[in-house]
Amino acid sequence: MRTVEGIAGPGGEMHPVQAAMVAHHGSQCGFCTPGFVVSMAVAHLNGARDHDDQLAGNLCRCTGYSPIIRAAEAAEAEPVPDWMKTDSAFLSAQISPEGSGEAGGLPGVFNPRDSDELAEWYLAHPDATLIAGATDVGLWVTKQLRDLHPVAFLNGVTDLQGIEVRGGSLHVGACVTIAALRAAVATRLPSFGELLRRYASEQVRNAATIGGNIANGSPIGDGPPALIALGATLHLRRGDEMRSLPLEEFFLEYRKQDRRPGEFVAGVSFPEHAPTLRCYKISKRFDQDISAVCGCFNVSVEGGMVTSARIAFGGMAGVPKRAALAEAALVGQPWSLATAEAAAKAMAGDFVPLSDMRASAAYRLTVAQNLMLRYFHDLAGVPVSVLEVRA
Ligand SMILES: Cc1cc2nc3c(=O)[nH]c(=O)nc-3n(C[C@H](O)[C@H](O)[C@H](O)COP(=O)(O)OP(=O)(O)OC[C@H]3O[C@@H](n4cnc5c(N)ncnc54)[C@H](O)[C@@H]3O)c2cc1C
Repeated sequence: MRTVEGIAGPGGEMHPVQAAMVAHHGSQCGFCTPGFVVSMAVAHLNGARDHDDQLAGNLCRCTGYSPIIRAAEAAEAEPVPDWMKTDSAFLSAQISPEGSGEAGGLPGVFNPRDSDELAEWYLAHPDATLIAGATDVGLWVTKQLRDLHPVAFLNGVTDLQGIEVRGGSLHVGACVTIAALRAAVATRLPSFGELLRRYASEQVRNAATIGGNIANGSPIGDGPPALIALGATLHLRRGDEMRSLPLEEFFLEYRKQDRRPGEFVAGVSFPEHAPTLRCYKISKRFDQDISAVCGCFNVSVEGGMVTSARIAFGGMAGVPKRAALAEAALVGQPWSLATAEAAAKAMAGDFVPLSDMRASAAYRLTVAQNLMLRYFHDLAGVPVSVLEVRA
């Protein structure tokens, strides 16, 4: 891990993003500057130029974003300084202890190198906490002061970090990060990719895994509704035993999943292409916000008639859930606005949403029904994104 102290050169030379921040007056009170500089240096290292997305997880409350974005743009043409490349071997040795077993000699901390080691250890320690990206688990410690031992860190389980295309399906390992998943689906399933662009921030996306997002079982996670709408299959492993089930069947009730002691998420597979998949995230803030409602639609139409429909929502029940009545109102009907309106009406019977600080129950239901209509217009080519619609 590199902190802001490691961004400048060994002789105190400024990194190009630091120099650009000075030249473009990108710092005022300075409170947020170290975070911005680190994010900008990582983006610079990776050659990323989508600065709004790269910096969406950093908040500035006095300078304003324009000078910061100008600084990021100005640094684009500058080469990556040598010191940002040469010490990476040293840094990864510090954070990745070699071999498996109890990491760094710490009792109750296991560092499996592959899923076989994980399976054997977890079967023997079914009460342990698995830690993948720690973007949920971290809060159990920082907010709830919980002692999680024994724990297994999954970051060394390399055989669960792959994405493969097999017979028209994408097979995604549980330890694939949201950032890597986003890159894999960006052109294949662009609406899913856009949803993942709005999943937390680049920093969180680089740590959070799809396995953690599913296993956590949150009713407002963004991965499950899209995957359920795609007809995804979940792969679980317990010891040497593997089983697979439709993802929607994994979520039994609020925070209760179909996962036996010692069983872990190994991966998820779903169709590589789904031209009519659309994912809509409704949140108070465009970037870096948890969904109030996340609606994902995947309707097939042949000869003007609806032949299949998969509609899944987050934020509408205690679990990510399909809109079974709405789907039934679509299948076998002509694909028309009247049919979409009938499905939206039927959706009232699918969900009894909660009121909480993100949205009221009535708002959630209204928005879900409106998303059905938005989907119809979207497939008809009408601009529906908040980035496209102008007053
Ligand atoms: C600032 C912030 C913003 C966020 N924004 C969003 C957002 O926009 N959308 C969204 O959906 N989520 C969001 N989250 C939640 C979080 O990032 C996700 O749920 C994430 O995908 C969890 O993955 P992880 O690898 O960090 O899981 P961890 O925190 O490591 O684990 C989460 C749970 O899953 C279990 N687990 C992990 N891997 C496995 C496995 N392979 N098998 C079995 N159990 C496993 C853990 O034991 C734990 O119970 C946000 C979190 C933060 C901190």
